[in-house]
Amino acid sequence: MCHRLHSNIIPFRWSTSICEHRCFRPHINSRLWYSSNRNQTEMEQVGVGIASNGSPEVAVVVVGDPELLHKKKSAIRLAGPAKLQVIADFDATLTKYWIDGRRGQSSHGLLQQGNPVYDVKRQELYEYYHPLEFNPTIPLDKKAKLMEEWWGKTHALLIEGGLTFDAIKNSVANATIAFREGVVELFEFLEENDVPVLIFSAGLADIIEEVLRQKLHRSFKNVKVVSNRMVFDQSGQLVSFKGIIPPSPDNGIILLRKTIHVLNKNEHALDMAAPVHDHLGDPDGPIDDTASVKKRTNVLLLGDHIGDLGMSDGLNYETRISVGFLNDNVMNSLDSYREAFDVLYLNDAPMWGVLKLVSQLCSTGK
Ligand SMILES: [Mg+2]
Repeated sequence: MCHRLHSNIIPFRWSTSICEHRCFRPHINSRLWYSSNRNQTEMEQVGVGIASNGSPEVAVVVVGDPELLHKKKSAIRLAGPAKLQVIADFDATLTKYWIDGRRGQSSHGLLQQGNPVYDVKRQELYEYYHPLEFNPTIPLDKKAKLMEEWWGKTHALLIEGGLTFDAIKNSVANATIAFREGVVELFEFLEENDVPVLIFSAGLADIIEEVLRQKLHRSFKNVKVVSNRMVFDQSGQLVSFKGIIPPSPDNGIILLRKTIHVLNKNEHALDMAAPVHDHLGDPDGPIDDTASVKKRTNVLLLGDHIGDLGMSDGLNYETRISVGFLNDNVMNSLDSYREAFDVLYLNDAPMWGVLKLVSQLCSTGK
């Protein structure tokens, strides 16, 4: 189906909401609809508060199929919070895309390993492999091998270049990275309702957890990072990665068997990660093991790429509500994102709308 925006249907408000949304007053809460031959798209401008510079902030939310969303919300609410899990991408989903006019850094991009020669070597790998990641002519199985190769070489450089945990802490402290407003409140609400949050990332769990520590200043027992995990020695020096088979005379190279990369960042990774992690995610305090998470068959999925929808692969879910954040290049990507996600937030929106959504989903018996 195609929901093209017609300027004669949504003339002024739509263009204003995209280009000048910060100029709206925060009390504005207007709905805009347009119809196609199959269903109705709903767009809503919601006042969400006052920005740090004092100007009012308004988020724009797009719902491609309001009727379907309503059905999904009813099904999840009926099943109750005990059946719900939240799956979230990290970079540009939980974190802001723009920070004070600058592009926010990714959890991987912020890492300065304290050795400029190795920072350059990792950048060279990025420049070689990143175009391959998006090359549509490479078959998926071959691409997965290339991604494993990329991750393996990068991880080897981190060890070889002498990465320390202190370097991670310093990198995070100096990074341009921040969570969206409302993320703390969202995690708190989900913690109170015993709903697990799985943060899937093809990056490094140790960095993401340091970002959580430094930027949120607290931990959540329900939030688990499912990502690649480092092993440090007593002096805080990186010596290996969990799940890696070390080099030997037989293999001659470091074999990566448990690497989570962009093409397997999904609930299959739980099966892959669980045996090599002491527990799921944070080894210090899990509340859910892999099996119990998989019994939660209703999903709220948060992502900023259409590929993030694959995070629920490996879970035989009953109902899934997908929430997308379209942070940039809005006009070119709007159609495809609206088709892909049940709920779509535009322009680097805060997390308040998602908090409202989960409060509705968890309202059973309250
Ligand atoms: Mg992302």
